[in-house]
Amino acid sequence: MILRDVTLVDGGEAHRGAVAVDTESGTITAVGDADDVTAAADGPAVSLPGYSVLPGLVDAHIHYSLSGERSVEDVVGMTDAELALAEARNARKTLEAGITGVRAMGARDVDPHVRDAIEAGDIPGPRTVANCRSITITGGHGHHLGREITGPNDARRAVREQTKRGAEFIKFMTTGGVTTPGTDPDAVAMTYAEIDALVDEAHRQGVHAATHVHGAEGAKAAIRAGVDTVEHGTFLDDEAVELFLEHDVTLVPTLSAPYYIVRNMEMATEESARKTRHVYERHIQSFEKALDAGVRIAGGTDAGTPFNYHGANASEVEFMANYGMAPAEAIRAMTETAAAVVGLDGSGTLEAGTYADLLLVEGDVTDDLTLLNNPTAVLKGGEVVAGAVPGASDE
Ligand SMILES: [Zn+2]
Repeated sequence: MILRDVTLVDGGEAHRGAVAVDTESGTITAVGDADDVTAAADGPAVSLPGYSVLPGLVDAHIHYSLSGERSVEDVVGMTDAELALAEARNARKTLEAGITGVRAMGARDVDPHVRDAIEAGDIPGPRTVANCRSITITGGHGHHLGREITGPNDARRAVREQTKRGAEFIKFMTTGGVTTPGTDPDAVAMTYAEIDALVDEAHRQGVHAATHVHGAEGAKAAIRAGVDTVEHGTFLDDEAVELFLEHDVTLVPTLSAPYYIVRNMEMATEESARKTRHVYERHIQSFEKALDAGVRIAGGTDAGTPFNYHGANASEVEFMANYGMAPAEAIRAMTETAAAVVGLDGSGTLEAGTYADLLLVEGDVTDDLTLLNNPTAVLKGGEVVAGAVPGASDE
């Protein structure tokens, strides 16, 4: 199938052209000038002027285990069977909304099974890089579903447990969080020895290390320890931003997370509302500071956190653009950059030989990013998994 005369949005740019998809191999076979692509590729061509084609979105930070509940306490009592079914539902919603790749940030030990079921074609979902349990101090942020540690030796053991069960990266909580009662988002919760041990052991096991951080001191400690991605980065100062650049670390700002709590303040728990009021403005300033300095930024939503529902992920692109990114650059942050950072090879770009994971959107998305919320068709591996391609036959 050839989609021609469309606006192709890729690599931070937009231009007119065509993309050819091989449904057998599930890959893109040609991309570029509409006449050249149509001449070179097999299969029927559909002319869709007025439509945009871009790579399927890649969300670098989601929680299949959470479904936007007001409090994580609502999830704690679920059995593994209930959790697995909720995760399968959330994976389907995510894919149907046009997110064809994700990094799942972990919950008990269910995520690798969900990943494997998606890969086997047993359940619909995005290409998934999975983790097991987030690692946190005893009683720390996310302890309800996480692996609590005390001391550097226990930190190493915790990393080995996760990789043994199929984790493709390690997530740990350097600071407290907004949604866990009694933890302080600004304070460094772990000891430096624990942080060093976690990152070192992750790299020994051949996986990358991601850390949840709000306060600047936590970001600095994790970056100095060699962490690969910093999640949230809510209160970054100049020194922290310098360290991102010096150590080539990626920021996943998750602007959606505080936005949805602030917007639903009257329904949030008293503690998470109070903490979020304090963080929201500073979070945006922190994002702007990192963007201005040239820190690499990958789009991630923290989907599943309170009122931050699976399927609304595309709003993160809009938020990043609202706070300073050019529209095509914001799309790049949540396609190419996110895919590269989380290790989803062959995703996130429109290039011959890569997966035909595509969004077809009516209108010019670089003029109006809200169009991303309603794709006309979502393709994963060349197959239409949501919506339909206008004018294409059913075969
Ligand atoms: Zn998260």
